[in-house]
Amino acid sequence: MKCPICGVDAPAGAVDCAACGIIFAKFKKKLESLPVTPASRFQPWMGRALAVVIVLAWMAGFGLYYRAVLSEMPARKTAAPR
Ligand SMILES: [Zn+2]
Repeated sequence: MKCPICGVDAPAGAVDCAACGIIFAKFKKKLESLPVTPASRFQPWMGRALAVVIVLAWMAGFGLYYRAVLSEMPARKTAAPR
């Protein structure tokens, strides 16, 4: 087994590197956890889903506002023309 940091040959089953002192298990864990998290946490469809949610929320809010305006209209309509 070769040390991933300094390239020195370490005996099979060695826990740490004799030359630079890194602990192989810790280094492996770090390597496994590093590239996976940023790539899989945020995916392109999440951005689209977020946009859809925002649009839907905006539409719902606008719908409620529009309903409130409509319910006020008859009173204004009867008062305005004359
Ligand atoms: Zn080493």
